[in-house]
Amino acid sequence: MGMWLVIRRIPSWVFPLALGVLLIFLPMLGLDYGTTRNLQLACILALVVSGLNLSLGYAGELAMGQAAMYAAGAYVAGLMSVHGHTDLFLQIIVASAVALVVGVVTGIPALRLGSWSLAMTSFFLVLLIPDVLSIFSVQTGGQNGLTGMVPATLFGGTISTEAFYIVVVVVMIAWFAVFRNLVVSRHGVAFRTLKQSPILASAQGISVYRMKLTAFAIGAIPAGLAGALFANLDLYISPLSFSFTIAMTVLAASILGGSASVYGAFAGALIMQFGPNQSTEFQDYALIFYGIFLIVGGVLLSGGLAKYAKLGIAKLDRMAGWAPPTPTARPGDALPEQAIAGEKLVVSGLEKSFGGNKALNGVELTALPGQITALIGPNGSGKTTLMNMIGGFYRSDAGVIRLGDGELQTLTSDAVARRGVARTFQTPNIPEEITVLEAVQTGRYTTDRVSMLASILRLPKYWKVKHEDHFEAMRVLELVGLAEQAHEKASDLPLGNRRLLELARAVVARPGLLLLDEIASGLDEHEIVRLAELVRQIRAAGSTVVLVEHNFDLVLKLSDVIYVLAQGQVIAEGTPDEIETNPRVLTEYLGISVEEVSS
Ligand code: ADP
Ligand code: MG
Repeated sequence: MGMWLVIRRIPSWVFPLALGVLLIFLPMLGLDYGTTRNLQLACILALVVSGLNLSLGYAGELAMGQAAMYAAGAYVAGLMSVHGHTDLFLQIIVASAVALVVGVVTGIPALRLGSWSLAMTSFFLVLLIPDVLSIFSVQTGGQNGLTGMVPATLFGGTISTEAFYIVVVVVMIAWFAVFRNLVVSRHGVAFRTLKQSPILASAQGISVYRMKLTAFAIGAIPAGLAGALFANLDLYISPLSFSFTIAMTVLAASILGGSASVYGAFAGALIMQFGPNQSTEFQDYALIFYGIFLIVGGVLLSGGLAKYAKLGIAKLDRMAGWAPPTPTARPGDALPEQAIAGEKLVVSGLEKSFGGNKALNGVELTALPGQITALIGPNGSGKTTLMNMIGGFYRSDAGVIRLGDGELQTLTSDAVARRGVARTFQTPNIPEEITVLEAVQTGRYTTDRVSMLASILRLPKYWKVKHEDHFEAMRVLELVGLAEQAHEKASDLPLGNRRLLELARAVVARPGLLLLDEIASGLDEHEIVRLAELVRQIRAAGSTVVLVEHNFDLVLKLSDVIYVLAQGQVIAEGTPDEIETNPRVLTEYLGISVEEVSS
């Protein structure tokens, strides 16, 4: 067990890299031709699978067009070779660029339509490959395949068979490094947020459509790389290599290895290449086998091998008593006064109907920085609707929502979030499989931006933002009292702590406007006291807070101004003292106010 503690101290990327380097040297240790060839095919397959993992496992879209992008990459490289452009480096660049274009062009309409159309469109894209190749049979050789490729060169010299093997493995290692860097960065967490809750993602300023398209486009690159390598392996390609079976093999490998994983793509590809792909009898029944496998595997193997690997590591951690080092905040890290530049919110004449049901009927409301503005009213009076309209989740029928010197009513929810509006959800919305610390950091996704390229290449900007993310998140975690749980799984927290976590996530970006929807419901007295204290601190820091709350007592204690909503209209507004004694409120709100006030 002591051994495990030593292993745990080594950065985790060292192990796959070591395995990759070992793979380079395998043939020199006397591996036979057949196995070496299969290893190359496994590496090529792993590249294609990793592209699917990015869109399916991370961004949550079943985009199966990888086979088409793989074909595009292969034919681009093949045609370049036939026309005398033998430089492999150039072929790889052009092939992945073309695959990227195919990915984006086919992804745009499909993503516009929604998830199932994307699955179907990409499906048909694969079925179309032989036809497209036949149409251009003069160039591609049609069904007979593309002949006349010449051995590739690199830096002017011909690549030997042995050297080509090394090139294949090195390209795979390089791509997996890119993929891994992307996935462990904040963008990887953003992809996973997107997969689990597009609403949460857009509340954090992420454009769902753009982000999915990005995943789709980036996933096309390794397919293009794989195509170029594959074409140069035998110097011959035909439509048979890009049949429907390859699309199914890719999907099966992805699920087997674990779609939401990086190295699972290689494990799945290895198993598919050395397993089913070996027997010719199997090939005849491949589609039936894959059909059964996908149904059974989809049910039994959710998470794939990667999940079992993670469970195994977690078990060894427990046995060895290993725990991640507790992260620390910088000293003196309370949220300073005036840390948040709150913005004035003015809602005027806001109307919203759902069918014939007028949920909001000319709402007027003003919320000031450094104040808590509460919104109360019976169920169905339009409180959540109003919050959703301010957040850009619903379009208004009429009226203006002003924040600072800009207007929000025409913006989409992600644009509203980028304007500095943060919110919590009536039912806590916390993605699975991420830690408490990561969950809070997602709140900063659009405040301190760092590009995907900078994250992949680990440029100084990436490290700077990473550190800021860490410290800012730890600062608010300490504030809400969850610092100890920073490395726990966020979705495992009890309800009270999940609400605190949501609050931390909303505050970490220092929003100009903070929308809190029933944050106290389901909490015990203790938790409510802590929550109230927190909201007061956020007010003191300068934020504009709008609070929807059923707990009248809490509202009276906490707020500076109270608006009472009934049937989509503001029926009263004033200080807690005024509202408490307002006769109209007492009658309209009777059931709640009388018992709450007297208790
Ligand atoms: P509250 O949060 O004050 O309980 P809501 O804003 O959720 O009230 O609801 C106000 C009214 O609008 C209710 O009559 C509700 O049925 C209706 N409503 C809210 N959201 C929708 C929706 N997405 N589609 C149709 N009707 C809705
Ligand atoms: Mg509500």
